[in-house]
Amino acid sequence: MLANLKNKRPLEDNYRHRGLRRKLVSEIQSKGITEANVLEAIGNVPRHLFMDSSFVQFAYRDKAFPIGKGQTISQPYTVAFQTQLLEVKKFDKVLEVGTGSGYQAAVLCEMGATVFTIERHRELYDKVRALLPSIGYEPMFFHGDGYAGLPTYGPFDRIIVTAGAPYIPEALLEQLKVGGRMVIPVGSQHHQEMKLVVRESETEYRTEDKGGFIFVPLVGGKSG
Ligand code: SAM
Repeated sequence: MLANLKNKRPLEDNYRHRGLRRKLVSEIQSKGITEANVLEAIGNVPRHLFMDSSFVQFAYRDKAFPIGKGQTISQPYTVAFQTQLLEVKKFDKVLEVGTGSGYQAAVLCEMGATVFTIERHRELYDKVRALLPSIGYEPMFFHGDGYAGLPTYGPFDRIIVTAGAPYIPEALLEQLKVGGRMVIPVGSQHHQEMKLVVRESETEYRTEDKGGFIFVPLVGGKSG
C-alpha cells in the first residue's frame, strides 16, 4: 500500500521546483556553461519527473543518480556541457545514443531540435516512451543498439552519445552530416575523454578533446 503510494508520482511542476531549477541554472553557469539556449532549457525541463522515486528529492542537485538497471541520469552540468558543445539549433536533426531517463532528450526537444533517441534497455525505453509525451516532449524513440546508429533516419546534424564508448563507432561517423558535430565520451570503463568530432568534408573529420568525464559504459560494439 505504502509502496504503491510512493511510486505514484504526480506529474506536477510547481513554484518550488521552478525555484530549485533557477538555483541549478546559476550553479552550472558558475561552472562555466554560458550558452543562453542551453541554460534556458535546463531551467525549463522538470528534472524531478525523470528521477527514480528513491532519489526524487535530490533532483536539483548537480549530480548523477541511479535510474535502475545499473544506469544513471547524467549530472546536469554534464548534460549542459555536452549540449553546449553540440551547438544545437532549432530544427536540427539530433541523434542521441543512450536515452536513459529521457532527461537529455527532453533538453534537446526543449531547444527545438528534432530528436531521435536510442536505448538498449527495454524497461528504460518503455518507461521513457510513456513519460516524455505525457509532459510535452515528442522525440522518436528506438529500442536497440546505439553502435549502429539509425542508418535509415540519418544523416544527422548532431549526434550525442551519453555513455562511455571504447572507440568512436564507424556507423555514427557515417551518419553525421558534412558540417555536423558529434559529442562522445571515449575511453576506458573508468574514465573517458569528451571528444568533439566535426565532419569537415565527406572524408575529413576534426576531433578535439574537451576534458575528462565518467559515464556508464556504452555496451556492445566490437569488444562485445
Ligand atoms: N542521456 C541519459 C539521461 O539523460 O538520463 C543518460 C544516459 S545513461 C548515462 C547511459 C544510457 O546508455 C543507459 O541508459 C544505457 O542503458 C544506455 N546504453 C548503453 N549502451 C548502449 C547501447 N549500445 N545502445 C543504446 N543505449 C545504450
